[in-house]
Amino acid sequence: MSSVNVLILGGTTEAMQLARLLEGDARFQAVYSVAGRTSNPRLPNLICRSGGFGGVEGLRDWLAANQCRIIVDATHPFAGQISHNAARAAKLSGASLLAVSRPPWRAVAGDCWQSVTSMAEAARALGDAPKRVLLTIGKLELAAFCRAPQHYYVSRSVDLPEQHPPHCECITQRGPFRLEDELALLDDYSIEVMVTKNSGGSAAQPKLEAARRRRVPVVMVERPPLPGVAEQVQDAEQALRWLERYA
Ligand code: NAP
Repeated sequence: MSSVNVLILGGTTEAMQLARLLEGDARFQAVYSVAGRTSNPRLPNLICRSGGFGGVEGLRDWLAANQCRIIVDATHPFAGQISHNAARAAKLSGASLLAVSRPPWRAVAGDCWQSVTSMAEAARALGDAPKRVLLTIGKLELAAFCRAPQHYYVSRSVDLPEQHPPHCECITQRGPFRLEDELALLDDYSIEVMVTKNSGGSAAQPKLEAARRRRVPVVMVERPPLPGVAEQVQDAEQALRWLERYA
């Protein structure tokens, strides 16, 4: 029996977990795709490709050239463009599309969150008085905080950013993170407020627990709207069960 071609749009914990489940599974011939922005990305033992496809048409053409009729969009909830492209390309090429989407975090008792919908709004939410701010938003969107230069920033990301606000210390760390380390980060840098994206998932959740324990308020940037994909699951195991329909 021939194997089923699958494209995994990756770059997340869930994508890697699915890829690991498919390693050595002869029922599937999976290609793992990353955007190519991270200098040393985690990659599975599958065929891997790096870099954009060239928009919707590029992705449609890639699917045709690789005789691939199944896409698993396991990209980050804030990676809106590629998800829109995947939805459109799937429609154009008649491919089946599954979105792996982890639930967003929800505030619990003891949390002090302010929800915002953009980085610009997050920068404004920090207020006029100078504060010590932890930014855990990745490396690409730090420029928004140049408009609030009165604060002292500590930015944590996987790679060093190219652009950051004037008073900013950049540290590189890669999850999963441990609660004791997150507490130490808040303490060592005397953090007064944290800015984060509502990514969901367990790998980055300890920072929220640390903020709760230290009574550090959190400016929570909520997710961008994503295309309404009919087929959705929350984790890699569920994604594998969905794929097994095609095996
Ligand atoms: P994005 O804004 O949605 O995508 C921008 C462009 O990058 C897309 O149009 C596509 O280029 C290319 N691209 C994105 N993901 C790709 C993939 N998996 N394989 C091939 N090309 C991809 O994405 P982003 O927010 O920059 O995120 C880029 C990658 O980092 C994603 O794979 C995502 O899972 C991962 N990531 C993002 C975040 C975040 O906060 N945004 C956090 C952790 C991980 P073409 O149009 O040329 O095809």
